[in-house]
Amino acid sequence: MKPVVGVLGVQGDVEEHVRALAGGGAEARVVKTPAELEAVEGLVIPGGESTTVIRLLERFGLSAPIKARVAGGMPLWGTCMGLIVAARDVADLEQPTLDLIDVTVRRNAFGRQVASAEVPLEIPALGSEPFPGIFIRAPWIERAGPQVEILASHDGHGVFVRQANVIGTSFHPELTHDRRVHDYFLEMVRTAA
Ligand code: GLN
Repeated sequence: MKPVVGVLGVQGDVEEHVRALAGGGAEARVVKTPAELEAVEGLVIPGGESTTVIRLLERFGLSAPIKARVAGGMPLWGTCMGLIVAARDVADLEQPTLDLIDVTVRRNAFGRQVASAEVPLEIPALGSEPFPGIFIRAPWIERAGPQVEILASHDGHGVFVRQANVIGTSFHPELTHDRRVHDYFLEMVRTAA
């Protein structure tokens, strides 16, 4: 059975994730409604614009159902903006987030050199080959709670984190041909199912 994985489709780089998940053997679906959320076994929140998406999640009635599904064990992965939306706290943002992972992030944190760059990342959980980390006005992790595992860092800041069934990446694996983070997430979905 193919795992059914949703990509939140209210705004952002949705299609790239759909393609990468499908390439990894999942049935990938765009999720825009609570009913569509019900039908998936895992959810990706892609990159995009966090202030817009936080507003749209409320308007589409998706915030509470996403929180409930994650509390019930559904794996969730936030990339870049998705990590901001999933974080407990955002250093420079007033809006309430989904609070799914106990980290504080800072938006657009990597200054000009890495504002948009490809950086080889050491990620032992994915093997010895460095992962091509694509950063686009990316957030970094300023604080991680005791339950949070830092799976990769760059410039002394966490950029790949996990807390139980929730992972977050500052970078964009959907924009590379390296599918190891997608495969890692799909394994979480298969294990949870
Ligand atoms: N800087 C964006 C934000 O704050 C995130 C950038 C991205 O997702 N590529 O929402």
